[in-house]
Amino acid sequence: MAVDDIDTFRSELPEAFKPGALPSDWDREWHVIEIADPDGLSEDDLWRDQQIDVGDLWERWSGISEDAIAPTDPIGTEWPDTFPGRPRIWKGRRQPHGGSGPACPPPECFAFYLPFHFYYPDWWGVYLIAEGVLELASYIAWSANRQISMHEAVRVVRLFLYAHESFHHLTEAFATRLEVTHRSPFFTTTFAQQYAKSYGTNACQEEALANAHALRTVKRALRKHPQSKLVQSALASYVEASPPGYSLGTRYIKESAFVEERCRFAELNQNLAITGAAKKDSSIWRVFPQAFGGISRINSRVNYLVRRNSSLARRLSVDARYLTYRDLERKLKAAQCAFIRSGKGSHQIWQGPTGARAPIPNHRGDIHRGLLSGILKQLGLSIPLEAFLQL
Ligand SMILES: [Zn+2]
Repeated sequence: MAVDDIDTFRSELPEAFKPGALPSDWDREWHVIEIADPDGLSEDDLWRDQQIDVGDLWERWSGISEDAIAPTDPIGTEWPDTFPGRPRIWKGRRQPHGGSGPACPPPECFAFYLPFHFYYPDWWGVYLIAEGVLELASYIAWSANRQISMHEAVRVVRLFLYAHESFHHLTEAFATRLEVTHRSPFFTTTFAQQYAKSYGTNACQEEALANAHALRTVKRALRKHPQSKLVQSALASYVEASPPGYSLGTRYIKESAFVEERCRFAELNQNLAITGAAKKDSSIWRVFPQAFGGISRINSRVNYLVRRNSSLARRLSVDARYLTYRDLERKLKAAQCAFIRSGKGSHQIWQGPTGARAPIPNHRGDIHRGLLSGILKQLGLSIPLEAFLQL
């Protein structure tokens, strides 16, 4: 299924969707910055040229401080009840490597997935909270005895969190296939109920599989990396120190164990969704590995969140590097440009005063100022960039 097909799906089966409200001022409170290559381990524009060190985070993870934590108070608490992978606020303590005590904060304290069943068309996708990425990276660097740099740890954690959240997308894609064949809503009903019911216990297969998927993804990406073993064991120690359900992720790293558990997960959800269907051994799902194929280009819907006016935002100088889409719209209108239509894929078509047109990325996040000169030129605007920014 391609992204454009979600429109078709929604018009044919509107009852499968449950529009979710976002916390008010969401994009006023956060910079939303696209991640260009979430599948890889390449250096990220956001962190490039930054002096990243463990600093205070190191002390906090090392267990010297036992303060109760709520990593970044993700986005407030106004989320619709129980969608899988929703942001979590963690009130426990961090557990130092090898120590005992309350669990480490799970991935949903650092990142989350907004499903298209709730957030299509604008905001569905994967979000990584920049502070959270830094936080977890400091744990990984510390856990690996600082034998990997913070820059490397940040890249590894970005891939790990993205892969974890993308498994929630794969689960949503599986639910969607059942909805298409049975013409009933399942994702917002039985899938969400099962997730909510099992969350926080070892029965929560979705989080175990999401962590396993993330560990497997990093393992593949690091195949030739000299520190591969060290990084993998640091991530595994984080997973094992995570809350029930999440902590089972290390059980399913091997292909056979992963597929087997995913089959059980599929069969359970199928049975809950479709009452009256014959119960079969979960191995029946082996004949349908595509059941968990994602919607194409989830990797084009991955963003960092940086809280505006935070010390991190100042340090990264994001205000100087990015412009919100809303501000860009306002400035384009002030420059006599007009919105024409949504383009194919992820672009919106705008027209300049002379009739020249330009596509603008419409993932609704912030626009890198480096892109702007090109856009202004394409729209036939002769105004200098600095003057445009003053509009
Ligand atoms: Zn999750």
